Amino acid sequence: MEDKEKNEIVVLRLSHRKNRDKRVTTHVALVARAFSAKKCFYAGDKDEELEKRIKKVVEKWGGYFRIEYSKNWKALLKELKNEDYFIVHLTMYGIPIQNLIEKIKNKEKIVVIVGSEKVPREVYDLADCNLAITNQPHSEIAALAIFLDRIFDSTELYKEFENAKIRIIPSKRGKKVWQKSD
Ligand code: SAM
Repeated sequence: MEDKEKNEIVVLRLSHRKNRDKRVTTHVALVARAFSAKKCFYAGDKDEELEKRIKKVVEKWGGYFRIEYSKNWKALLKELKNEDYFIVHLTMYGIPIQNLIEKIKNKEKIVVIVGSEKVPREVYDLADCNLAITNQPHSEIAALAIFLDRIFDSTELYKEFENAKIRIIPSKRGKKVWQKSD
């Protein structure tokens, strides 16, 4: 089964360092899932614990989000390009999102790249578009969240995750949850 969104978005997280980026890469994947991306590829160090953490979230909170290690991100990008994915690289050096978002929204399939340490020059060249969420330095997690929210025009805020074992019942105070009985 697949989630049906207007645009099909996959995320590529570059240069994951197992120890240093544990929390940030987890949050990149959690944001990708919560904001309606379909999948998160990650490159750098292979990290079984990261994959387990994200798979557990999907099992419990629902949906069809997937995480997958990519040993060779250049080959992956070429493959995705052949499958008609539009490649967006999020970088503070790029063109401001407000100038390009309407054009990008028309692309049916998008791969959005976020870096961690220094991003190789090739990424800037391979990308169809180097996109800035402000031209100030900040975070891949924040940049990804803003990008996805703009692409989906905030419709992702209404997403219902199928097959959830647990759901939050929004409440003014306290914590109300619904849990599927076995
Ligand atoms: N020093 C790295 C470099 O030379 O590319 C960037 C480090 S930054 C903490 C990690 C990632 O956050 C970047 O690769 C980029 O994907 C994202 N990022 C940070 N600021 C951004 C901005 N203003 N717009 C878009 N993405 C941004």
